[in-house]
Amino acid sequence: MRTRERLADELYVLPAGPGRLMNSYLIADTVVDSGLRWSGRLIARALRGATVRAHALTHAHFDHAGSAGWLCRELEVPLLVGAADADAMESGRVDSHGGAAINALTRLFPTRPHPVERRLKEGDLVGGFEVLDVPGHSPGAVAYWRAADRVLLCGDTITNLAGSARRPRLMAVPGFLDHDTPMNRRSLAKLTDLRPSLVCFGHGPPVTDPGLFTDAVLRLADPSPGG
Ligand SMILES: [Zn+2]
Repeated sequence: MRTRERLADELYVLPAGPGRLMNSYLIADTVVDSGLRWSGRLIARALRGATVRAHALTHAHFDHAGSAGWLCRELEVPLLVGAADADAMESGRVDSHGGAAINALTRLFPTRPHPVERRLKEGDLVGGFEVLDVPGHSPGAVAYWRAADRVLLCGDTITNLAGSARRPRLMAVPGFLDHDTPMNRRSLAKLTDLRPSLVCFGHGPPVTDPGLFTDAVLRLADPSPGG
């Protein structure tokens, strides 16, 4: 899968790794997320012929910001990052915040520091999408929401571990990879209130069934049987 695939009007998914393991997106003229530090060329190839004017992140973790600096330099575009993740991006210390052992692991895939041109906050507009603050997985995690056709880019607030687009398996990111898991669940609840018709994840294929997204989030909020 070397090219970009159209998901909706002015929305394409690009491979940042094998299959849909790690995703980048093109929303209008903005690339969202850039995988690991060696994903850049894969993404650049899938962007061929597209007009790109900015690179934005859902959050500053090593598997989403890994090629951010390279891509911004290559395409000569500014970097846009959630306000509370911007310092991590500028210093290159993009810890998972989940504990020393995990952070040591993520430092095996170092993210090069890069200046942040715009520190995003709730209500900002990026590529025709509205920025939503969804802290928890990282302090400055953001989602991108387009109300006109109810499309949501939810980053790692939740992931889809499905092997195919037809059989989604929505799962929480393991708590040890979160900055603050209860905070992430509150952010997720905010996203389900939107009733998105298309949900695009940092990891896994997109989901078009709004009920499935809501049910998965409710299960995470209250995992007790019958709860
Ligand atoms: Zn991730």
